[in-house]
Amino acid sequence: MDKPIAGSHMNPAPRKKPFILNKMSGDRPEGYGRDKSRDGRGGVKIKLSEIPESGLTLKEVFDPVEMNLQMRDLTFIEPLRVTADLHKQRDAVMVNVGVAGQMKLLCGRCLELYEEPYENHFNLGYSVKGMLVLDITDDVREEILLSYSIRLLCKEECQGLCARCGRNLNFGVCQCLKVN
Ligand SMILES: [Zn+2]
Ligand SMILES: [Zn+2]
Repeated sequence: MDKPIAGSHMNPAPRKKPFILNKMSGDRPEGYGRDKSRDGRGGVKIKLSEIPESGLTLKEVFDPVEMNLQMRDLTFIEPLRVTADLHKQRDAVMVNVGVAGQMKLLCGRCLELYEEPYENHFNLGYSVKGMLVLDITDDVREEILLSYSIRLLCKEECQGLCARCGRNLNFGVCQCLKVN
């Protein structure tokens, strides 16, 4: 019987995998880092006179760093693709927004990094009476931040770490548990 002596394998917590940044350098998608004549930080600004009766679809790219969207446990590893469908009705503008990207997340249970696509759709409405330009950048950013309340788990049934030896139990049961 190889009953482990308590404390005999108090390994330090498993080291996090190195953060892979390779994907961010080099071949960036078209439009990324491009100098935006609008206001220099990207975003979605629309001249109201340019929205035709039939509506207007805008495609923009959000730099997650410039937009201050990067968090400790959640980072975007590529620029966010933002699509805005605009419809003008008298003094109101309705905007249907779609946001897509790729996230790298830290599992709150096992502390492993994992990747997941990001997708978000929402509607914004504005009263634009007397306005010339509509800037929806801050509202889009806000909606993205609100969507962060998702639970950060690499998978629903994540087994987490052994409280005693720190082993990631997704990769198998440790000796501590086998004893019980
Ligand atoms: Zn996990
Ligand atoms: Zn253990």
